[in-house]
Amino acid sequence: KIEKEKRELAKQHGMVRSEVSGGEIAEEMEKERRTFQLTMCEYLIKVNEIKTKKGISLLQNHIKHCSSQFNFFQECLNTMAKLKQFTEKLIPELQSMKIRQDEEKKQLCSLRDQLKMALQLEQKEDPGNKQAGYNMHQLQGNKQYGTEKSGTLFKKSDGLRKVWQKRKCTISNGYMTISHSMLNRPPAKLNLLTCQVKPNMDDKKCFDLVSHNRTYRFLAEDEQDCVAWVSVLSNSKEEALNVAFSKAPGGGESSWEELTRAIIEEVRGMPGNRECCDCSAPDPTWLSTNLGILICIECSGIHREMGVHLSRIQSLSLDKLATSELLLARNISNSVFNDIMEANLPSFSLKPTVHSDMVFRKNFIISKYVDKKYAKRRLAAQCSGLPEAIKDKDIFSLLQAYAENVDLSEPVLAPLQEPGETILHLAVLLSDRTSLHIVDFLVQNSRSLAKQTAEGNTPLHYCCSHNKPECVKLLLKAKANIAITNKAGETALDVARRMRHPLCEELLLQAQSNQFNPNVHVEYEWWLGQDDMYESDEDLDEKVRPQQALAWGHAC
Ligand SMILES: [Zn+2]
Repeated sequence: KIEKEKRELAKQHGMVRSEVSGGEIAEEMEKERRTFQLTMCEYLIKVNEIKTKKGISLLQNHIKHCSSQFNFFQECLNTMAKLKQFTEKLIPELQSMKIRQDEEKKQLCSLRDQLKMALQLEQKEDPGNKQAGYNMHQLQGNKQYGTEKSGTLFKKSDGLRKVWQKRKCTISNGYMTISHSMLNRPPAKLNLLTCQVKPNMDDKKCFDLVSHNRTYRFLAEDEQDCVAWVSVLSNSKEEALNVAFSKAPGGGESSWEELTRAIIEEVRGMPGNRECCDCSAPDPTWLSTNLGILICIECSGIHREMGVHLSRIQSLSLDKLATSELLLARNISNSVFNDIMEANLPSFSLKPTVHSDMVFRKNFIISKYVDKKYAKRRLAAQCSGLPEAIKDKDIFSLLQAYAENVDLSEPVLAPLQEPGETILHLAVLLSDRTSLHIVDFLVQNSRSLAKQTAEGNTPLHYCCSHNKPECVKLLLKAKANIAITNKAGETALDVARRMRHPLCEELLLQAQSNQFNPNVHVEYEWWLGQDDMYESDEDLDEKVRPQQALAWGHAC
């Protein structure tokens, strides 16, 4: 019974239990599922966060980085643009500064030469070897005392005894003259430009005058007189200094004229130039600018008849010459020219004299210049290459080749930059302040102004690509064609613009608008006043040609 009850109970329990446990399980399962879903959700959120961080944030950061870089480069660009503007402004400023400085240098050089000369003069007048100090500070004198004074001063003798000697002294025109005790001896003359005045601090009646080689100590009558002497010395020196500065070339038109006159003077003194190159008439005043020789008025008429392609005549005295017309005259001279052009003159009787009639003159001149009948002929072995002559700035070899009717417009075998270059192209490429006469000789006598290289470049194109404004002047003067274009379709002006060579550009613009003045000056090393450049005519005539050429080559 109990068992039955138990079983029943158990059965009841079991049933209950089974009923309860079924619901329980479902509940548990549900709970479990929710928990799982929650975890899953959290997991997905984490995954999402990671993805965001990995992708979007990364990209966002990258974009931020990019934009800051963009800003940076933008700023760089702006800065560079500003810098470019600035440098462009700087170019003309620098150019004008350079011109100013060159001018200043010229003035200083001229002043230096004057001072040197003054110094040498004084050395001759006042020999002495005592070294003295030279104070660079310029003393300012009291202007009311003026610049001239004459009177008596006591000068301390420079011997061992050191006594005061009474001397008559005069200050005038920048010089102080100190008379000598012995009347038959000339007074000492001091150039105040090279002297320094120093008042004596201990004795108010004394002052020192320091020259380049000794110190003079002077004693005045009284303090007032001493002040007067010191002031006049300072004023006179200042005046001399101002005069020296105002004499220095100012870079204007007048200094060009002065230079031209000086060159003409130099040319007149060159070997053989005291006589007509053709008839030996004295003091010829007509210049053949393309040959660099001087001739008389009679012969100049025949030269004109021959035409400007053979001889271009200008007057040394009547025409207003420019320095560009004197390049060949400064480098050739009658002697050198005739050494080549009259070397094979069979008899001197063929050469006209002052008294020869026009027919005789004309026959000779035509034979000499057109037929080149009397010109020196070299052996083939003696023929040096023309490109070498250009490199050596050897005008004589060029003249010799001209005399032998060598075609100077032929392309050279070894061009420097492009096939088809003539020696004029080479001369332009190699030109500098000392070789402009070589360029000028070829410009006037080689007939190669319009010759083009394989790239179509004329000598004028070469000037513009290599910034040779002085050569441009010579080419434009000879009426070089400015319209020729090279293979790239550029005129010389286009090249000058592209290469930014403003001086060349300016000259070509002038030529384009017919504003170019052929009476133009050139920057050139004129070597004026160099007496040792050539010897007297007699010495030169005795010498054989190669030595002479060598001597000239050195001097040039
Ligand atoms: Zn003559």
